[in-house]
Amino acid sequence: MIVVMKAEASEEELDEVLAAVPKDKYDSHIFRGVDRTVIGLIGKGKDKETLKNRLSSYSSVDKVIAILDPYKLTSWNFKPEKTVIQLEHVKIGGEKPTVMAGPCAVENEEQLMTTARAVKKAGAEILRGGAFKPRTSPYSFQGLGEEGLKLLAKARQETGLKIVTELMDIEHIDVVTEYTDIIQIGARNMQNYPLLTAIGQLNKPVMLKRGMSATIREWLLAAEYIMTEGNHQVILCERGIRTFGEETRNTLDLSSIPMIKEISHLPVVVDPSHGTGRWELVRPMARAAVACGADGLIVEVHPKPEEALSDGPQSLKPDKFALLMEEISGMKNYLNRKISRNLQSVV
Ligand code: PEP
Ligand code: MN
Repeated sequence: MIVVMKAEASEEELDEVLAAVPKDKYDSHIFRGVDRTVIGLIGKGKDKETLKNRLSSYSSVDKVIAILDPYKLTSWNFKPEKTVIQLEHVKIGGEKPTVMAGPCAVENEEQLMTTARAVKKAGAEILRGGAFKPRTSPYSFQGLGEEGLKLLAKARQETGLKIVTELMDIEHIDVVTEYTDIIQIGARNMQNYPLLTAIGQLNKPVMLKRGMSATIREWLLAAEYIMTEGNHQVILCERGIRTFGEETRNTLDLSSIPMIKEISHLPVVVDPSHGTGRWELVRPMARAAVACGADGLIVEVHPKPEEALSDGPQSLKPDKFALLMEEISGMKNYLNRKISRNLQSVV
């Protein structure tokens, strides 16, 4: 349930209300909004009606709303303001789309540094690059592991780009967290609940990719797994789902962007590289993603895609990536980005 405090409620009154919640049955998640504070109570207590009545009786409480729908911490009910993830000067979920770009996998220093410099010059703010790679075949390049993370950190140091890289299992949580700014949870791990629970306990932004055949409901519930542990810094990433088409690697479900924005305050970014599997389709789909309200893009870029150790066919060369950046910055209509439950920003 959601407890909406009155605008004038003091910290002491908030503490009083929190103290009335049975700690053994409910976890309290506090959201301090611009106007007022909201408490999200998540738990399995059987006495919900009694608790609702008790909390409603406090003069500092405006209203208590029971949430019956499956979305709790991800929903606008809990947080009527949009989530903006802030990494120093870089924002995800702000006024303009944030672009993450880089190779599918970190292969060597030269490849990474060349790519990092190129994407930075073109206007990207975050460098992507896998060090632990989930490959379909056990015989394919599996990533450089910690050495790859060190190269990413070096690229960050030189370019000022932030880093996003994939965490594949609990075993590597410490090492990946040490180096990265954003933890990527890949499509294959979207429903790895022990992993989601573990990263929910960190204080680090997480980019949760949509599972290969996940519904929007399953995807948002995966985000709930992370948030209910206390980590509310979640970015969703639409990366396409499996359908019957053979011409593209996946079907990029752009309708999920406005759909999620109806339900959730979380930022959504789009991956047109994995979403299509073909570099020729990346720019058109990136433009379409921005036009329908995506908060950002994650794009694979490689200096020599024909020599890439993974995902070459869907990687843009730096010149094409620069073109993409020009195209989207020319789209005046970063249209109607939803900034709160009812409001759309006017650009
Ligand atoms: C990736 O970003 O390189 C990746 C493996 O993505 P996904 O999990 O979406 O397949
Ligand atoms: Mn890839």
